[in-house]
Amino acid sequence: KRIIHWFRRDLRLDDNTALLTAYATAEEVVPVFIVDDAILRRPDTASNRVAFLLESLHDLDGNLRSRGSRLVLRRGQPEEVLAQLVAETGAAGVYFNRDVEPFALARDARVATRLEGQCAVVSFEDGGLTAPDSVKTKTGTPYTVFTPYKKAVLPQSVAHPRPAPTQLRTPADVLGEPLPTLADLGFATAATLPPGGETAAQARLSDFIRNGLEHYASARDRLAEEGTSRLSPYLRFGCLSPRRAYWAAREAFSNGSPGLEGWISELVWRDFYRQILFHFPYVEGGAFKRAYDELAWENRPEWFECWCEGKTGFPVVDAAMRQLLTTGWMHNRARMIVASFLTKDLLIDWRWGERHFMQHLVDGDLAANNGGWQWAASTGTDAQPYFRIFNPIAQGKKFDPTGAYVRRYVPELSAVPDRWIHEPLLMSTDLQRAFRCIIGVDYPSPVVDHGHQRIKALAMFSRLTTNQ
Ligand code: FAD
Repeated sequence: KRIIHWFRRDLRLDDNTALLTAYATAEEVVPVFIVDDAILRRPDTASNRVAFLLESLHDLDGNLRSRGSRLVLRRGQPEEVLAQLVAETGAAGVYFNRDVEPFALARDARVATRLEGQCAVVSFEDGGLTAPDSVKTKTGTPYTVFTPYKKAVLPQSVAHPRPAPTQLRTPADVLGEPLPTLADLGFATAATLPPGGETAAQARLSDFIRNGLEHYASARDRLAEEGTSRLSPYLRFGCLSPRRAYWAAREAFSNGSPGLEGWISELVWRDFYRQILFHFPYVEGGAFKRAYDELAWENRPEWFECWCEGKTGFPVVDAAMRQLLTTGWMHNRARMIVASFLTKDLLIDWRWGERHFMQHLVDGDLAANNGGWQWAASTGTDAQPYFRIFNPIAQGKKFDPTGAYVRRYVPELSAVPDRWIHEPLLMSTDLQRAFRCIIGVDYPSPVVDHGHQRIKALAMFSRLTTNQ
């Protein structure tokens, strides 16, 4: 018996539910990845993610080969490629791990219809700590508030991970195409990205558990430090099993640690937003709290451009936006600061920022990105009232007290002393000259006045609330 395992967002051998089931039930497994032009052509597809994907596929192929198998790569529409492959191999089934994105669910439904009568199409739950529809309130509805959701998930329901099979059997006569380069696919990137693949993911997880987890609670919000795991791109592409990450951390710190609980909470946030997207797919493109679709954003394109380029005149915002452009990643605290700034200082629709993030983030993921943006814009699941607005200067002083983060990404400010690093406008003309940073010439003047914009944002939200 032969089974096709269709790799998508599960680019690993370790704890891969569909793959392990295929190997347990069939003599031979055909591991296939399909390069789908419908995904490559999407306006929110980022070169950075395509580059990371290609490296991850390369690593996956190497890991398969070391176990006696290899990755079969094909290009085309998944339903047609799979129908062809089933005909070629006589496979009894196509197995894959389920996704939660509307685009993927529609594609998978097309695949199931196309293969009906030809072979079995079987999907598995794999992408989260738990399945998106497995954790419900007492009345059977999905959770829309994080804390009770987390209490319902932890700790019992997270399955223990299963190791990769040691020996894999794949038929020798199934041909694939060579792995394309980034340029072959029409993409290019200048960003310095983390290495893709399961091998790098495992190394990073061990390193974080050995050296980072213990200090996570105190270091995670410090912008200039590597205080977080940086595992997000690996979780995004399934190079790492979230259950492996969860249990590796729990077992290493079985006596508990403040870092452990905080970090596990973040893994649960990931699941929380996956199940929000699964149960409320209208959040793709619309506010979770539907009334907020009526907010009267100002949407000034020239302000949006300043924000995208990291030229707003607010040092911490600019550093963060440039971190995104140069590394394809941004610190979580910085994501919150720039998202609040875009929506509540620049009064620009959160969807503009969400799209810009997707076009650059190496970990760009619809569920987490949408959840993060709606959190910042106060349109999402969070109960926090809209009138809590981040002050970008205070945030910079608190989370980058020495200005090391700002100096790393905004070289115009590199000579400015700590005292003015978050408010360079307060320097006298003489000081600006002395520290080689003339405001308005070397570094932009602030694009808006925070206090003034805050009042406008409050008015924008309260108009809507009082009209309801
Ligand atoms: P760690 O602190 O080490 O956390 C471990 C893992 O938990 C992360 O790798 C990630 O998978 C998950 N996680 C952590 N925080 C969150 C969160 N708030 N929501 C969901 N999952 C979380 N995360 C993405 O993976 N993709 C995105 O596209 C994305 N967009 C975001 C947009 C905004 C506006 C905001 C505020 C947050 C966004 N996040 C996104 C969440 C978070 O910023 C990143 O997951 C985190 O910075 C990744 O760094 P890390 O791996 O070092 O995280």
